[in-house]
Amino acid sequence: MLSCLVGEHFKVEALKLYAVENLSPSIIADIFKVSKFSVRGYTQRIMAMCKTPLLVSFLEKCYRDLLEIDSIVVRSSGGWVCLVCKTIVAKTRPDVHVRVKHRDIIDKHVEKLVNLFLSRSGRNSGNQKAF
Ligand SMILES: [Zn+2]
Repeated sequence: MLSCLVGEHFKVEALKLYAVENLSPSIIADIFKVSKFSVRGYTQRIMAMCKTPLLVSFLEKCYRDLLEIDSIVVRSSGGWVCLVCKTIVAKTRPDVHVRVKHRDIIDKHVEKLVNLFLSRSGRNSGNQKAF
């Protein structure tokens, strides 16, 4: 999720290919033109944080919504710029900037995604809305 806020949407796609489609890290690395070690490191880090069945279920239900999250840190001529506070961000750690300065934005997205996930899992009692 944080990856999407700093423009690294491919990490979400890579995670889905690994956890849901069961592709190997080397195949995924070929698709996104990154090293298979970074794919393996990234997917293992995420999968160590949450239970796999839950992660797989979440990705199946909310994958598109994750990819629709707009980046708030973008590359510009002068380097990396945060669109929220208009400051130049060190290109090495844009995720740290977002995590430290814009916790509220992360929380907002997390809350929205969790609610979506719960409603799509049928865990909201009395939710009859079709979609
Ligand atoms: Zn900022």
